[in-house]
Amino acid sequence: MKTNSSICHGCSIGCGLYLVESEEGEKRKVLHRTTSPMNEGKLCRFGTDLHTYYERETMINSVDGKEVKQDEAIKAAKESLKGMKPEELAFIALPGTITNEEIVSFLSLAAEFGCENVSFGFERFFGVVPEEAAYIIEKGLPFSEVDGASKIILFFLDPFVHYPLLARRILKAKKNGAKVIEVSFAKNERGIADETVLVVPTEVERIKEKKELFEDSLIIGELTPYTNPQLLSFMLWLNASTASRLFLLKPFLNSTGAFLLGKDSGRKDLFEILEGVEKGEIKALYLLETDLAGAMLGGEGVAETTSKLDLLIEQNAFRTHFDTAGITICSEPFFMKKGTVVNVEGRVLEIGGESEKGLQIMESIGKGRKYEEVHEEAKKRLGLGDSEINEFEIAVKREERKFEVAEPKIEKEEGGGAGEEYFLWYKTNPFFWNGIRAKNFVEISPVAMKELGLFRGDEVEIAQGEQKERIGFKISDLPQNLVLSEAKLAIKPLQGLLTRVETRRAE
Ligand code: SF4
Repeated sequence: MKTNSSICHGCSIGCGLYLVESEEGEKRKVLHRTTSPMNEGKLCRFGTDLHTYYERETMINSVDGKEVKQDEAIKAAKESLKGMKPEELAFIALPGTITNEEIVSFLSLAAEFGCENVSFGFERFFGVVPEEAAYIIEKGLPFSEVDGASKIILFFLDPFVHYPLLARRILKAKKNGAKVIEVSFAKNERGIADETVLVVPTEVERIKEKKELFEDSLIIGELTPYTNPQLLSFMLWLNASTASRLFLLKPFLNSTGAFLLGKDSGRKDLFEILEGVEKGEIKALYLLETDLAGAMLGGEGVAETTSKLDLLIEQNAFRTHFDTAGITICSEPFFMKKGTVVNVEGRVLEIGGESEKGLQIMESIGKGRKYEEVHEEAKKRLGLGDSEINEFEIAVKREERKFEVAEPKIEKEEGGGAGEEYFLWYKTNPFFWNGIRAKNFVEISPVAMKELGLFRGDEVEIAQGEQKERIGFKISDLPQNLVLSEAKLAIKPLQGLLTRVETRRAE
């Protein structure tokens, strides 16, 4: 039996674990790695079940739906890309299961074809924040800073749900005497906070009146492709105008690597790329280890949009929610990869595998370099010099800088048509981003249950325009007009944390 040291790709913490290779006919197993400094051996439910995500159906090598040898699929991808104009091309990789080396290779592949439409999912935020504040988006903080904080503000973040291993750090900080305050629409799970500042959904702006609360604190929030840019500006403003630090967690493991390595390349907002596809301006898309329809809200709409492409190339270890890709190229699962990632603390972590397959696919289409050359380039661009990779060190450090941000306004949620008096609030989590529905219900208040005439065993119908979802419900301690979902529903958020929805008893 072979035991590999590996990393969980469920979120940007990158918990260390062991994956025990299966004997003939047996399944892989996950074991705890107590020496891992990111998580000290502990794992959340996603990490404990990690082996099951490696049992999905593998991707095949295909051209126009016909299974081919890998060389043929690579050759077809190269030829097809050559036939496109640079502005008609786009390259997307949500950095959950890609290594730094693959990012370097991916960027040079896009550059080889003169393409500047490259997205790792977060590009639009760089357009709304001052350059001096970009380091907050790019780099996180070591967890020792959480352990040692005296005051922690959880800003619309429920650690037990969003980033489970962060919750342990907050509990540790509390043991060390920290005061934990949550600013949210409803109390977080398991009463982790000492104090709750409840925000009325239509009055997020009013947090400004409590600015002094943020003095001398560590503000912990989240940045995802769906974060309202106004809310990000708001967090930055709170940070800049008080004596505080801001720590933004991200859902994708190698977000920091993607930010730092992609810095000087052509960047384009993910949603703008999809708009370009919709308008017929972007005709070809290369997706690297990204199940776009599985990861994004309104996945069906995304699949419909991409069906308009002349050319969709998917490089992935597993089958995705798309069935329209003209060319599919099979890479290796994440745990088999040779390479590194940077977690949200700034630790450079080795994945633990030996395979260079994913990287070599891109290098065969592009520059044709060897792994070592690309690895050295990644190290150089991350500023690692000649040092050995060591998970016990924070190699990518951030320096706090002073910056100014104009006092932001948070616009009221759009929508609000007849009957839309409820707000849908997504609490994202590792299952959410990996296209897995771990909970098949939404949470509502006891008052809403009464108001909607619901009984045990009923289902609710939640609708926003044409988008509808029918699902079970659970009663929770929530404001009357809030519908909370940890599952990805068919409803896309409009512009912010909340989306106005019609809610009724499903017939
Ligand atoms: S906290 Fe994140 S990285 Fe750690 S086990 Fe859970 S999903 Fe994986």
